[in-house]
Amino acid sequence: MSAENLQDFPLALEGDDTPMVRFRKVSKRYGSLVVLDSLDLDVAEGEMVTIIGPSGSGKTTVLRMLMTLETINDGVIYVDGKPLTHMPGQGGLVPANSRHLRQMRSKIGMCFQHFNLFPHMTALENCMEGPVHVLGLSRKEARERSEELLEMVGMGDKRDQHPSRLSGGQQQRVAIARAMAMRPKVMLFDEVTSALDPEVIGEVTNVIRKLVAEHHLTMLMVTHQMGFAKDISDRVCFFFGGRIEEQGTPEELFGNPQRERTQQFLSAVK
Ligand code: ADP
Repeated sequence: MSAENLQDFPLALEGDDTPMVRFRKVSKRYGSLVVLDSLDLDVAEGEMVTIIGPSGSGKTTVLRMLMTLETINDGVIYVDGKPLTHMPGQGGLVPANSRHLRQMRSKIGMCFQHFNLFPHMTALENCMEGPVHVLGLSRKEARERSEELLEMVGMGDKRDQHPSRLSGGQQQRVAIARAMAMRPKVMLFDEVTSALDPEVIGEVTNVIRKLVAEHHLTMLMVTHQMGFAKDISDRVCFFFGGRIEEQGTPEELFGNPQRERTQQFLSAVK
């Protein structure tokens, strides 16, 4: 992105109405393929926003950009008021240095379709790893925090097991506890139930429900499970071709979709 364009964006967001996450005119291209097309998306503090849409519409790219796993071609993403991959410099925003990136990354937790637990560590050790080695907590503090979270996800009695001894649903619950142990401001869930057997999906969705009910966390989720999206989200965004085609409350989007593409998608996935 050119320096002229970057000057158009504020160095920081301030004020009571500052969203926890803001995408401003964010574009992502792979060669000639436009994956995100000047995307504007705000997620308020404490809001649960779900992204739905056909395969290839850019849903996962939104989450990957928040994890700074993808570069931005145009636009700026703000998290907690600060630009995610930029920082104030001479004449406006400049690419962030590694210290800024580290600080910003610590605000975001993510759970993937594949749990990516460390196989040689127990559930408890998996949860303690980040707090000890990234946040610098004492082992005692990290253990207390991790034990509490493993209890919360219903895995307290399995804390000394290695991932290979746990079912997919149990591993995913540990992965959620592990992400939460870093005390992120924003949690991202990318298809967290897709790799699970149908009979264990409920135990993971129930944990996410509990998170929504008990923690004032900001969450952004990609899912193919329309029923889950419907009963958990404050707002649902339907993506099509790298843009938000339509968004609204679950009642609005599922009950009375306005756009033809949304109607077609919803009738195909029913
Ligand atoms: P969704 O999550 O909605 O299925 P994605 O965000 O994963 O969509 O991908 C959007 C588009 O970007 C797809 O067409 C995909 O093939 C393409 N894409 C994703 N990652 C890459 C990459 N590293 N190189 C090239 N194309 C990619």
